Amino acid sequence: MRIVLVGPPGAGKGTQAAYLAEKLSIPHISTGDLFRANISQGTPLGKQAQEYMRAGQLVPDEVTIAMAEDRLDQPDAQSGFLLDGFPRNQVQAEALDAYLAERGVSLDAVLDLEVPESEVIKRIAGRRTCRQDSSHTFHVEYKPPKAAGVCDACGGELYQREDDSEETVRKRLEVYHRETEPIIDYYKAKGLVVTISALGKVSEVTQRAMDALA
Ligand code: ADP
Ligand code: ADP
Ligand code: ADP
Repeated sequence: MRIVLVGPPGAGKGTQAAYLAEKLSIPHISTGDLFRANISQGTPLGKQAQEYMRAGQLVPDEVTIAMAEDRLDQPDAQSGFLLDGFPRNQVQAEALDAYLAERGVSLDAVLDLEVPESEVIKRIAGRRTCRQDSSHTFHVEYKPPKAAGVCDACGGELYQREDDSEETVRKRLEVYHRETEPIIDYYKAKGLVVTISALGKVSEVTQRAMDALA
């Protein structure tokens, strides 16, 4: 299956994507994780992205689309993928459509995670992220690691993302409403959108998503 996951920052996209990718045997592709890996490795791409991410703004489309297409070109993405955090605006959505159309394939679904802003704020405020692999995330209250400050999955150090500060989260939510939400209508017009509530236990949301995608 070829799936796009959308929802505000902190909705639980990364958390759900990890479970769904496993259940559906498709790779989880997160542009946020790809950027953070590039930043920690000090690559030129990381250097280009860093300032935008720190400010809660979108990284320029040219850079982002090239990185996403590079990842989609990999062998493991040929029979399906779960895209998390891409596309994030109209230009990126159209670029993805064109990329897929050139290869004679198309999206199967756009899974829209709905969650009230008050919950998003709580989720982001308590989020802790692994320095070694930013797809490993925890929550101080909802999903505490077994040992404080240490990633259960890989032993990496947990930290609070700089862009998870209250001020930058507000900026990211504003960018989400302005730039990203409109692509839900774009995909609705194509009949691709399934909306589910992202409230409740992680496992309940995963089940809801599996039912919606079936
Ligand atoms: P969250 O999961 O909290 O929504 P992400 O990890 O997806 O956050 O994104 C973090 C930051 O990375 C964004 O605020 C943005 O600066 C950058 N980024 C990630 N994906 C994209 C994208 N598709 N287009 C532009 N910038 C992106
Ligand atoms: P996104 O990728 O959409 O930004 P994450 O998956 O990183 O969101 O989740 C944000 C925070 O909320 C993380 O700390 C995560 O552990 C927590 N979280 C995710 N899903 C749930 C849930 N169903 N209930 C409570 N907390 C959750
Ligand atoms: P599971 O691993 O069974 O899916 P979760 O990781 O979703 O469970 O939840 C772990 C704990 O976090 C639960 O005991 C629950 O009390 C708490 N929790 C999960 N989601 C929320 C939420 N949205 N609001 C408040 N507490 C939550």
